[in-house]
Amino acid sequence: MSQFTSQDLNLSRAEAAERSRTVTVHDYHVSLDLRTALQDPEAGFTTRSIITFSAVPGSSTFLDFVGRSVQRINLNGRDLPVEQLYRGARISLPELAAENQVIVTATGEYSRSGEGLHRFVDPADGKIYLYTQYEPADARRVYPNFEQPDLKGRYSFEVIAPSEWRVASNGAEVSVQPLSSTPELSRWSFAQTEPISSYITCVLAGEYSYFSSSWSGTVLPDGGSLAIPLGAYCRASIKESFDAETIFELTRKGLDFFHSVFGYPYPFGKYDQAFVPEYNLGAMENPGLVTFTDDYVFTSRATDIQYQQRANTLLHEMAHMWFGDLVTMQWWDDLWLKESFADFMGTFAVAQATDWGNASWVSFANRRKAWAYRQDQLPTTHPIVADIVDLEAAKQNFDGITYAKGASVLKQLVAFVGEDAFFSAAREYFSKHAFGNTTLKDLLVELSAASGRDMSDWSERWLQTSGISTLSVSVTADDGVLGSVRIEQEAMDPVTARNADRPHLLRLGCYTFDSTGALALTESHSLDLDGASTEVTALQGVAQPDLLLLNDEDLSYAKVRFDDHSLQTVLTSLDRLNDPLARVLCWSTLWNMTRDAVLPAASYVEAVRRFAPAESGVGILSNLLETASTAVESFTPLAQRSDLREELLGTIAEQLKLAVAGSDLQLAWFRALAAVSRNSTGQLGLLRQLLDGEGPIGLQIDTDPRWQIWRALAANGLAAPAELEAELARESNSRALVGFTVAMAARPEAEVKAQAWNSTWQDGSLSNELLSATISGFLLGPEELREEYRSRYFAQIGEIWASRSIEIASRIVGELFPEQDAQPGLALEQQPVVVLATEWLEANAEAPAALRRIVIEGLDNLRRALRAQLG
Ligand SMILES: [Zn+2]
Repeated sequence: MSQFTSQDLNLSRAEAAERSRTVTVHDYHVSLDLRTALQDPEAGFTTRSIITFSAVPGSSTFLDFVGRSVQRINLNGRDLPVEQLYRGARISLPELAAENQVIVTATGEYSRSGEGLHRFVDPADGKIYLYTQYEPADARRVYPNFEQPDLKGRYSFEVIAPSEWRVASNGAEVSVQPLSSTPELSRWSFAQTEPISSYITCVLAGEYSYFSSSWSGTVLPDGGSLAIPLGAYCRASIKESFDAETIFELTRKGLDFFHSVFGYPYPFGKYDQAFVPEYNLGAMENPGLVTFTDDYVFTSRATDIQYQQRANTLLHEMAHMWFGDLVTMQWWDDLWLKESFADFMGTFAVAQATDWGNASWVSFANRRKAWAYRQDQLPTTHPIVADIVDLEAAKQNFDGITYAKGASVLKQLVAFVGEDAFFSAAREYFSKHAFGNTTLKDLLVELSAASGRDMSDWSERWLQTSGISTLSVSVTADDGVLGSVRIEQEAMDPVTARNADRPHLLRLGCYTFDSTGALALTESHSLDLDGASTEVTALQGVAQPDLLLLNDEDLSYAKVRFDDHSLQTVLTSLDRLNDPLARVLCWSTLWNMTRDAVLPAASYVEAVRRFAPAESGVGILSNLLETASTAVESFTPLAQRSDLREELLGTIAEQLKLAVAGSDLQLAWFRALAAVSRNSTGQLGLLRQLLDGEGPIGLQIDTDPRWQIWRALAANGLAAPAELEAELARESNSRALVGFTVAMAARPEAEVKAQAWNSTWQDGSLSNELLSATISGFLLGPEELREEYRSRYFAQIGEIWASRSIEIASRIVGELFPEQDAQPGLALEQQPVVVLATEWLEANAEAPAALRRIVIEGLDNLRRALRAQLG
């Protein structure tokens, strides 16, 4: 790669705004020659962009391209000197005319990091698969372009690839012609797209299996009909596990639903969905060709909650066809305009358009909100409408604020303005801004018009502040009769250090034991909270309920604290609440208290041991077992940890044996057994039995469970390399290879850890997926084995940040942040890793902000765990 400065790579908001003032893009014709993908990937691939655009006459600008080399730059019929104009990330374009055509021919590189054009060889059968992934700015790793969301263009793609491959792009296939010189290669041409941003363009090529179907329906507002061809792709080696019909059925339900609420016909022709290997994220909303991780093709038995999460992702991406693809944020500050909406709409659509119904909102409260609460309490939190100065900052912002908090706040918005006004605003927004770019104010105008309310105060207080309100219920009661019930709001904005209380429209549920012993809802009050303290006068003089559940129905976004009486009820009788959403909200409160060191971790684990066996929802149960395990490993003092862990494991092993044969719950108990056993030898005998096929009836121990067991055995030093190799030979596919890589690095030996450490930092050929697998293995086994790497971590992160792609560097720096148990007798700030991290931050004030952000978050997570351990 040529020399270039990191500023060239890290496009700033100011530069993007300037370029946007200078040029208007018309269309792109992009040709990719992928013939080297088969035999000679090291050679890279030939790429050519022909771009027509208008410009301010006499001005200059630049294209983005990150690749091996540029061969030719031709502007308006003139060849320009490549050496002078290409610096390795940007191509300068001087002396522009009013109307321009630029042709750039270059050589790009195949990716192993999931950024740009990723190339994967399937270990199951040696077949080759390519796909692209660009957000926020990696189209420039595949073809020269103006890489920013508000320079939309119409794209025509053309691809040369082996004739027996399948090739797809955003637009429909127009023609496939064998090359006359080399008929084993063919040229695919694809229909020109509508105006779209570069980050959602896409190409897929390889020996994919393909399935097809269709959707048709009536489209508002004119009542006309629309037909959409549907396609689905996955690798040949997993096609037997691919339930394409289920995917199509859900897709059709989604298209019915979104057309009914958005009232704007899907504008991108076909709707293909490709499930691809080694994918960096859940899915990406490329119009006409959505890409998903192929972890969503369940090759091992999956539970209902996994299917529900997949449905949520599918509908999230579909919502993006309108929020994001049709109408796009101007710059990454308003990333929430698409992600918060898609996250909210995905959950809403699962609730409205599928059989899961309200279980969708239970999952939202259970997992999505927990993510938001966690992220919003980090020192790096930010407003939903963020201040994103450059691309590195944009990359870090695909976080719990932009997705989960944004979606939670939209749920509150819908409660505030009503569903009708919300969708009517959305319809106006789509028709007014179709194929354009927007900012916050464009949406507020429509919301205000549709709801008849001035939205500026609401938006400022919810979207432009940071942090989370804590709402505490305090009660006085006399002889079972309520005196006063007050709700206190504490809301410090951690960014501005100012009070930032918010208006909350929410419900207070009153639950009392009925004659069957169940906690039944007896009254529910709608509250309009604003300010620091609110008296609930309606409850004065009534009999004290056994549980006052604030934010019942989960309409608002806040941390809740129980009054004392309610806390006692929850800790003794949580299993008596029949409503799963109410139960999840109580669990969420207990978990937040544990993380805040208000409730001892042991009490949380005790509650899980006591009530989880009665839990009937697999999503809730899985989450409880994961948080209980975190409570043990991160929030419990070392001296008590092993006893608490064995108690938890005892409950898990017992419940595994009692669970209904073949049920999701049985599988959830098994997964917890394998996960907690990474740090314990207590149940390894049982795990061995399961591996040998002698376990509880109905429990299916296929690829994933087998490797979950091997991981636990390896971490405890009970898996020899020869055994792991024999297991891999038994079934050699991509998931097995990941399992094998984790288990090999999990072995508790100094040389094994050294090898895993070195390949993580030095082996640039490791793919994104195998890199993370190596790191996961490294992190298993006793902490003493990793002590020597603490200072090496801080010595090496600056260098790795500068030398690796942001995806890979973020994984290494984020996943390897050193862990540490609290050393008794040392104050928090004297704990060794706290000292090292603090010193690094002081000495590296000038380090890239995105790198500092990861270290600051790692340190804050550590401090939180240590605080709970120190008590
Ligand atoms: Zn999204």
